Amino acid sequence: MNEVKLVLLGSEGAGKSAVLVRFLTKRFIGEYASNTSSLYQKRLSIDGRQLNLEIFDPCSQNMENICILEEPVDWADGFVVVYTINDRVSFLCAENILHQIRARRREACKGDVDVPICLVGNKQDLCHSRQVSEEEGRSLALEHKCIFQEVSAAENYLDIANLFTRLIRHVMEHRSER
Ligand code: GDP
Ligand code: MG
Repeated sequence: MNEVKLVLLGSEGAGKSAVLVRFLTKRFIGEYASNTSSLYQKRLSIDGRQLNLEIFDPCSQNMENICILEEPVDWADGFVVVYTINDRVSFLCAENILHQIRARRREACKGDVDVPICLVGNKQDLCHSRQVSEEEGRSLALEHKCIFQEVSAAENYLDIANLFTRLIRHVMEHRSER
């Protein structure tokens, strides 16, 4: 059975848990524990292949000077980096995280810097108070060779299901190339 391990990263309040719970349960419940780390498992089939998905949602991190945890970064096959479109600080934080993932992977995994990542602009439903344009998100993703998707964990399931599917496909392709 194929195993795929993903980690969610992003500043506190960006909606990491909301995005993940939406993907796993199709629901938006509104409030999520922020003081615990959770590891979720899901079996799914993509392109006719059965796989075991494990997703790690670490305990929320500090907004400033966010420092990624090395262990989950070494463990993961791919990342979901979440910011919220109505908070520029969360976007800067996501940019910082992208740099840190790359630096850490370069150090620990012998140059595996092209690890699959999906950059996610969450809270698209709050676009009346948008601080980060879709274009900025897209170009940051391009710069870091990430998949990019704006979503609303509050209002939409399909976009979130799509982004996980795209990321998992990318992980499988990346694996077969190595
Ligand atoms: P985390 O710290 O990154 O895990 O963030 P949470 O998932 O706990 O979400 C932080 C807050 O943002 C919660 O109050 C959520 O209800 C809210 N939230 C998450 N996603 C959305 C969204 O797409 N739209 C809106 N309006 N609120 C959201
Ligand atoms: Mg959380």
